[in-house]
Amino acid sequence: MALGTASTRTDHARTVRDLLASGERSYSFEFAAPKTEKGERTLWNAIRRIEAVAPTFVSVTYGAGGSSREGTVRATERIATDTTLTPVAHLTAVNHSVAELRNVIGQYADVGIRNMLALRGDPPGDPTGEWVRHPQGLHYAVELVRLIKESGDFCVGVAAFPEMHPRSTDWDTDVRHFVDKCRAGADFAITQMFFHADDYLRLRDRVQAAGCETPIIPEIMPLTNVRQIERFAQLSNAAFPADLAERIRAVEDDPAAVRSIGIEYATELCARLMAEETPGLHFITLNHSTATLEIYENLGLHQRS
Ligand code: FAD
Repeated sequence: MALGTASTRTDHARTVRDLLASGERSYSFEFAAPKTEKGERTLWNAIRRIEAVAPTFVSVTYGAGGSSREGTVRATERIATDTTLTPVAHLTAVNHSVAELRNVIGQYADVGIRNMLALRGDPPGDPTGEWVRHPQGLHYAVELVRLIKESGDFCVGVAAFPEMHPRSTDWDTDVRHFVDKCRAGADFAITQMFFHADDYLRLRDRVQAAGCETPIIPEIMPLTNVRQIERFAQLSNAAFPADLAERIRAVEDDPAAVRSIGIEYATELCARLMAEETPGLHFITLNHSTATLEIYENLGLHQRS
């Protein structure tokens, strides 16, 4: 599949690699694959609101199961064909043969998508369970990076973990495997969400000390309600900051106050990261645009558009 022949839509198909190389910062938003028609409507309301601030790119997570995967591919393709947004297409190796992965890469290329996020994924059902590769599939994300790169002129992103990948036993090995993904051709990375800027900065220092300059974009997820405290820790494997938990518990009967503390905390984290010259910010929206757009506004970024 040659990318030059794949699409007539080249205007929205700029690469994250070229943008970062030009010295511009990347501002992006992540959505979750919709599972129902109602979910799809909610997603598209959020996408249209985010479109108005002209972010660098948007992405849709690749679900572990069949139906949500179709939803991912459909939503990502529609972003490429029906909006002014640049999509970064997530792809995981879970339960896919190499032939199936090539097929999805081809589908993305056919609508002009040039940016992909290459992920190993977690076992469906229990993300902490034993990882078993598909018999004709891949073991690690590094192999998916190579597969995508062999398939055409794609810009490829990979995952990075400011608190170390939960399956890694030590930092040196974790950083070595990350650097292997970059040497295999990854052009940029996006981190797992985290709470402390220092965790991100330590990871960046470790990667640079290993001789790797691949830009690492920090991922931010604002807390908007009390229930998310546990959800955060499950998602990120990170300990929820005790001081933030205490501030939130003190106002837990007042949803507006909880939301406002969550947005303030995320805004401060973003401001610190920007002061440390991160290559951009990547916001998890959970398909609701308002909290992330508020942070965007607090940081003065909406004036970019
Ligand atoms: P890998 O880089 O393969 O690493 C997995 C583990 O294997 C690590 O411990 C690593 O150190 C180790 N390892 C790597 N190479 C080797 C080797 N050669 N030998 C031995 N060990 C090795 N999941 C989804 O299902 N869908 C999504 O859309 C999705 N989006 C994500 C977006 C971001 C920004 C992030 C940070 C994560 C996302 N995830 C998603 C979660 C991700 O799939 C999981 O965290 C998964 O456990 C790790 O994926 P990886 O690509 O980092 O894997």
